[in-house]
Amino acid sequence: MSRLIVVSNRVQAPKGQSAGNQGGLAVALTAALRETAGIWFGWSGETIESFTGEIDFQTHDGVTTATIDLEEQDVEEYYNGYANRTLWPLFHYRVDLAEYERSFAGGYQRVNGRFAELLAPLIEPDDLIWVHDYHMIPLGEELRRHGIANRIGFFLHIPWPPQSLLMSLPDHRELVRSLFAYEVIGFQTEDSLENFRHYILNEIGGEVFEDGTIRVDGRTVQAISCPIGIDTAQFKAAAETGTARYTAYRMRQSAVGRDMIVGVDRLDYSKGLHERFLGYERFLAANPMLHGEVFLLQIAPPSRSDVQSYQEIRATLDGLSGRINGAFADLDWVPIRYVNRGYGRDQLAGIYRSARIGLITPLRDGMNLVAKEYVAAQDPENPGVLILSHFAGAAAQLSDALLVNPHSAEELSDAIQQALTMPRDERIARWRKLMDNVEREDVMWWLNRFTAALTGRPQPVVTASD
Ligand code: ADP
Repeated sequence: MSRLIVVSNRVQAPKGQSAGNQGGLAVALTAALRETAGIWFGWSGETIESFTGEIDFQTHDGVTTATIDLEEQDVEEYYNGYANRTLWPLFHYRVDLAEYERSFAGGYQRVNGRFAELLAPLIEPDDLIWVHDYHMIPLGEELRRHGIANRIGFFLHIPWPPQSLLMSLPDHRELVRSLFAYEVIGFQTEDSLENFRHYILNEIGGEVFEDGTIRVDGRTVQAISCPIGIDTAQFKAAAETGTARYTAYRMRQSAVGRDMIVGVDRLDYSKGLHERFLGYERFLAANPMLHGEVFLLQIAPPSRSDVQSYQEIRATLDGLSGRINGAFADLDWVPIRYVNRGYGRDQLAGIYRSARIGLITPLRDGMNLVAKEYVAAQDPENPGVLILSHFAGAAAQLSDALLVNPHSAEELSDAIQQALTMPRDERIARWRKLMDNVEREDVMWWLNRFTAALTGRPQPVVTASD
């Protein structure tokens, strides 16, 4: 069996971390790495004064990681710059927030070059290489420059934007053409894949074939839609642990007789938190008799706080939650509990399980794993209701949720009302269909589907259950 080489900006393999605290992606990829004796290559997260090219190899739990340190300037231009201030907003349809600086593009290319230079000598002829996400789009091409002829796949975890938006990026053609160094490109949804095909046909005159292959300048790739899942079995089990039960008990104790609505998101402008608060405010204004009967728990740990737009969204939400609480709260009731910290997996599972509604309303999201985790954590006898944005990649699979337009405060308000009054039979029927999908199309399904396309063989990479 070929060795798998995984490349991503950050390495999430275990460093003495218990499997229970790893995310689904890390669980699946480390299982594949263990099975194939592969390597996970990426940035250590550390900065050094001047780039040394030294690789830190570590093996934990049968998984080898290879990490490198980057210079401060690399991190500013490549990570905080091109990845998080250029590509992230643009690919989430926020051209208004995207910053186009030549120094960012230069840093991005330079770091991808450094990755390739250090990775290339580690690659053996039979290795399969799997590159992840928007930080690493040109890596395949850089590896080809070093003579790497192996099969290389690329998976994009975030949305692929429409042509009209992508064209606002200087050098968009070079970025897209670099993708043709890969054998396989995976997107989260058909919608993203369609945007990509449309760009290829209309902007660079490529050819799109019915079997999914796309040809540009004599180079061919297979472009597939391959939605990522969660480790459903692990999450289901997490909701049954003592920690989860105790957390659910604490939640009930702190809100006797009240229905909880929960949102869990990184503090990011793509998650629609501002619009969600406005929708909830509309619901409170329209339903005075329900004051004191429900509350919204919004968990939003800060992220990317070096980037100004993230500081701004944080300040806006602090103000908005304060205003709503000020306007509606009573002596013994606060309508929004707004919490800016992270929780462990089991605690999170307990929180999801005790929530009557999961309110997941991103303005744009590649997939949204929280929606799937919410489903996996529910009590089959008395499940909660998932309210999900049309614009989350997960909506394509989770069509039995209450799907909403997150921009409409009225739609959000109506959906909350519908969810609160939904009869148990309907909640169970909807949840079963959602859970069917979350169980069937889990993270191993995703991994095997992508690697089957990459190897050109249907055999799963991971055969044993991990
Ligand atoms: P994104 O990758 O954009 O952050 P996803 O919804 O796809 O969004 O994935 C977020 C992941 O981070 C989920 O697995 C979720 O459980 C986890 N997460 C989000 N907020 C918290 C939190 N406050 N504490 C712990 N984990 C969190």
